[in-house]
Formats: sequence, C-alpha cells, structure tokens
Amino acid sequence: MTIISVTQELRTRGRDDCVDITEAVQQAVGRAKIRQGLATVFVTGSTAGVTTIEYEPGLVRDLKEAVRRLFPETLRYAHHESGGDDNGFSHLRASFIGPSLTVPIVDGRLQLGTWQQIVLIDFDVRPRTRSYLIHLLGE
Ligand code: ZN
Repeated sequence: MTIISVTQELRTRGRDDCVDITEAVQQAVGRAKIRQGLATVFVTGSTAGVTTIEYEPGLVRDLKEAVRRLFPETLRYAHHESGGDDNGFSHLRASFIGPSLTVPIVDGRLQLGTWQQIVLIDFDVRPRTRSYLIHLLGE
C-alpha cells in the first residue's frame, strides 16, 4: 500500500472561474505508479470547490449560472456583518459544491467518463493562487 500526497498550485480569475485539472491528477497517478486505488482531490480554502462536469463552455456557463441563482450576490449575508468580508455567497457556493472528490483508479487510470472532467471552481470575488492536494492511496 502506497500513500502519496502531491500539492499543486494554480492561478484563478476568481468569480466562479472553473479550471479543468483532470490532466494534472492523471499525471500524478502515473508518476506515483499506482495501478489500483483511490485518488482524492482536495482544495484548501473555504471559497473554492471540486467536482466533475463535462468541460465544455456551455455547461461551464450553466454551472456558474446555477450557483448564482442559488446564492445570488445581491442577497444579504450575515457573514458580511460578522466577518468584515463581502463574500458570503462565495462561501455558500463552495460549501454546496464541496471541497473534495474521490475517483477510483483501475489499471492506472482514473475511472472517469469520456465527458467527465475534474474541475476546481474558485468562487471568491478576486483572482487567487489556489493550492489543492492530490492524495493517492493504493498499490
Ligand atoms: Zn469570507
């Protein structure tokens, strides 16, 4: 049994920027030479999320519009009064999507569908450098 952690960084534009990180995760699996196991992708921070989507421009836009309908910027958020911050909707969008994703590895490949990519979404209100962890467990 091998356990390997790889930390990756990327720049985002914020404002629901949705970045395809599938290739980085698959490359980490290849370098670790794990044939059977699990890959967990976890983003550090309370205003970003990780999920899967068919990464095509229409659907990426649909996802952004969906979280904006659920948690609009224009509502009143208690976080703005208690936290001295103006990104309550960013936190809620991030909690809703969740910070991590686990994908089975079989024969050295992430078991994703052809039209299923791993994305990191930055919900914060400004561009940021994001760290995320690829945690690999297997043999
Ligand atoms: Zn905040």
